[in-house]
Amino acid sequence: MCAIFGIVGDPEAAKLSYLGLHALQHRGQEGAGIISTDGETPYIHRRKGYVGDIFNQNNLQKLKGHMAIGHTRYSTTGGNTLANLQPLWMKSGLGWISLAHNGNLVNAESLTLELEKQGSLFQSTNDTEVIIHLMARSGKPDIQSALISALSKVSGAYSLLLMTEKEMIVVRDPRGFRPLIMGKLREATVFASESTAFDLMGAKYIREVEPGEMIRIALNRPDKMESHFPLKPEAAKRCIFEYVYFARPDSNLYGKNVHEVRKGLGRQLAAEHPAPGADIVIPIPDSGVPGAIGFSEASEIPFDMGIIRSHYIGRTFIEPQQSIRDFGVKLKLRPVKECVDGKSVVVVDDSLVRGTTSKKLIQHLREAGAKSVHMRITAPPTKHPCFYGIDTPTKKELVASSQSTEEIRKFIGADTLGYLSLAGLIEASSSANNQSFCHACFSGDYPTAII
Ligand code: AMP
Repeated sequence: MCAIFGIVGDPEAAKLSYLGLHALQHRGQEGAGIISTDGETPYIHRRKGYVGDIFNQNNLQKLKGHMAIGHTRYSTTGGNTLANLQPLWMKSGLGWISLAHNGNLVNAESLTLELEKQGSLFQSTNDTEVIIHLMARSGKPDIQSALISALSKVSGAYSLLLMTEKEMIVVRDPRGFRPLIMGKLREATVFASESTAFDLMGAKYIREVEPGEMIRIALNRPDKMESHFPLKPEAAKRCIFEYVYFARPDSNLYGKNVHEVRKGLGRQLAAEHPAPGADIVIPIPDSGVPGAIGFSEASEIPFDMGIIRSHYIGRTFIEPQQSIRDFGVKLKLRPVKECVDGKSVVVVDDSLVRGTTSKKLIQHLREAGAKSVHMRITAPPTKHPCFYGIDTPTKKELVASSQSTEEIRKFIGADTLGYLSLAGLIEASSSANNQSFCHACFSGDYPTAII
């Protein structure tokens, strides 16, 4: 998970980065940071917490200069410590380097061990730091060739913004696992994980940074960019789970609007697993909403918001005791009795991970009077952990890794359970210029070796 944002060529670079990170907050809530530069000094502010709490007029004013990169963190590797917050910043023989990374490197552990044997001292447990050490040891005479050398040794997912005092270098790994797009704001060039960041500040979407592409922009020539493909080419494997759950519905991703794709998943699901005779279709908010709209449209069963989500659960919420494990679900999601009482209900969610949410909700729906509950999931069973940057629990905790659909149906207490097929998911997600996805979390078909 995580989001990145970068801008070259605007006097309010840090403030715009702050806005960009705000729009991308859903991609990581543990901490955030911005590093800006005026062509000499790096100005750094990184903290734990939400973007809106970390930055204010005062500290943003200190982030001077026309170029900045920003990051919001969700720890998929390394813990939630200050040292792991990004953008990373380090001094090297080639000058200072700062780096914001979205994605996971699958060979970071073995590379770290090797580098430590050679004397590298790591400041964090963050896989991104490996890239900096590899660059420092590359013996190359300039930043770009050091970066290419480092990236030729790493494997996995990286959408990367690298900034020095003079330039920004932007790279997406050859499979393009994690999204990365480019836009224009007045004279400036901007980069972001998702287009919703551009919309917020009125930047114009230009295009995706292509899988395997490296773009270089000098601070004093923000209108001019160099693009090339220096890494070994691979077949593109964009993450399909971005469409299922992760990206914001108002973003346009891989050439399609996320909300529309999710409605399409719901329509496809209604065709694959209809629920004849049901009275009402309700989503598990928020992520199940577009899928439920699509299911309702295709099945002509009325849609309603039969479950209400509380948006006021703080991070510091303390469960009364361990034994009340379902309290979190109860506090977050409540059925509307008047909506479901005496009815046969179709409940739509985007994915089923451990099964805890559905199990508890179905129990609460029955308590609220639901006559029957038909669970529908707008994705295939999540059977395999992600090694490319989505935070999934271990294989053992994924209910679908060891149980059949019928066993899961019984476990969650639904009358019927239907998952979208992988073929249906791919079909509904594909567009004219993108049909090749990473769907390892569903299929186990990992595009790289897992080291
Ligand atoms: P569970 O209760 O473990 O089955 O979780 C299912 C819920 O988690 C669904 O409502 C999903 O929207 C949500 N979800 C799916 N993947 C993730 C993820 N990687 N991180 C956080 N929530 C997720």
